[in-house]
Amino acid sequence: MPATRTTFGFPHTECACDECVLNCRFIPGYLIPSDLAAIAAERGYENVLAFALENLLASPGATVMAAGEVLQIPTLVPQRQADGACRFLMADNRCAIHTVSPYGCSHFDVHQSNAEADERSLAGLAAIAREWKAGGLYARLWTILHAMKREAPSPLENKARLKKALFNLGTKQLDHSVAKNDYDTPPYGEQRGTN
Ligand code: SF4
Repeated sequence: MPATRTTFGFPHTECACDECVLNCRFIPGYLIPSDLAAIAAERGYENVLAFALENLLASPGATVMAAGEVLQIPTLVPQRQADGACRFLMADNRCAIHTVSPYGCSHFDVHQSNAEADERSLAGLAAIAREWKAGGLYARLWTILHAMKREAPSPLENKARLKKALFNLGTKQLDHSVAKNDYDTPPYGEQRGTN
């Protein structure tokens, strides 16, 4: 994996501050289609379905606006540990799949401007939307996980828990931080508020 990992022309981020790690604890980032093979291979899986069944969940994803319509773009996200943290978060707060971590983690941090995060979100969600339109592997895996009731915890509850944790952390960037997670509603054609 090159040191300068880029996706959609955006360089990855490298922050592991307390605020960024809180996202790993409450709202792990979403995968984009190209993450599937990369993470599966890194974890030693030859079969992406087996990888998905053992490591991923089906999330409601993001609600976005496009051409005046409200669209829901379901996403794949990491499974959770018993306390709700991402299954790849290790005891020392490091990511077990750091070099291939999902786009929703690796290309965002709480220190970006909202405009920067929105632009990145737009690119990631557009790639996922294309998979849904084409009936690609990403969409098929989501459908299988959803049918098996392997669903991500409630986005709204997670956001509430994250907000509380950020408040307890004493952050001054509470709203900014919460605006950069999987379950938000980044712009997709038109700006729309968070859910
Ligand atoms: S995959 Fe890694 S960076 Fe992403 S939420 Fe999990 S532990 Fe955090």
